[in-house]
Amino acid sequence: MSSILYFSNDNYLLASSYNIEDIDNFINNVNKLLKSDEKVAYLTFDDGPSPSITPKILDILEKENIKATFFVIGKKVEEYPEIVNRAYKEGHYIANHGYSHNNSVLYKNADSFINEIKKTDLTIGNAIGVSNYCSHVFRFPNGFMSNIYKDKKNKYVNLLSDIEYTYIDWNALNKDSEQKYTKEQLLNNLISSSKNKNTLVILMHDTNDVNDSSVVLKDSIDYLKSQGYEFKNFYDLE
Ligand SMILES: [Zn+2]
Repeated sequence: MSSILYFSNDNYLLASSYNIEDIDNFINNVNKLLKSDEKVAYLTFDDGPSPSITPKILDILEKENIKATFFVIGKKVEEYPEIVNRAYKEGHYIANHGYSHNNSVLYKNADSFINEIKKTDLTIGNAIGVSNYCSHVFRFPNGFMSNIYKDKKNKYVNLLSDIEYTYIDWNALNKDSEQKYTKEQLLNNLISSSKNKNTLVILMHDTNDVNDSSVVLKDSIDYLKSQGYEFKNFYDLE
């Protein structure tokens, strides 16, 4: 973390700026994260920002003093830049989930795949006031592990290193995007999917398409703490 001066709204502001300096080391650490033995939980939120859910999640994380990672959708960042700016300024890692979240656009051809990622970085950079922002971590819509567009994913995944990128899925989830669950069921989904695992990369969503994960976030954090987990975000991987 370093402090920089940036120019905004006709005033020079002193702001915290976080960036990855040792990219090779960072990518290497992301690549082996799911095989790590450390008892650490990485909270990750996909598909935001959304004005109805993301601020509620940020409020809880602030209160709990936990830094998370947000895999944002570029077109939503364009709509709600101030939410991403807040998340960034509060020390959360802003990662890349593509511009459109539309597989037919993402996998149209190699240029389109790269463009979906680069355009998202550009919108993030505009939102947070950082030129040439690169998140270095992509999450494939539906995850790399899913069978959806598998051939295309196998083909285009090789392009990521050319743009100093890697990708990551998850190894635990509360299934908030699958169907309407009660708060207790969401917590139970997290508990059963994280059983006997040390390092957890937990998938949640900061949208309310099916469930609002903010309602179960505090209980999820309390449960993970009770199991001895420490919380980190992707800035801790450099
Ligand atoms: Zn998604």
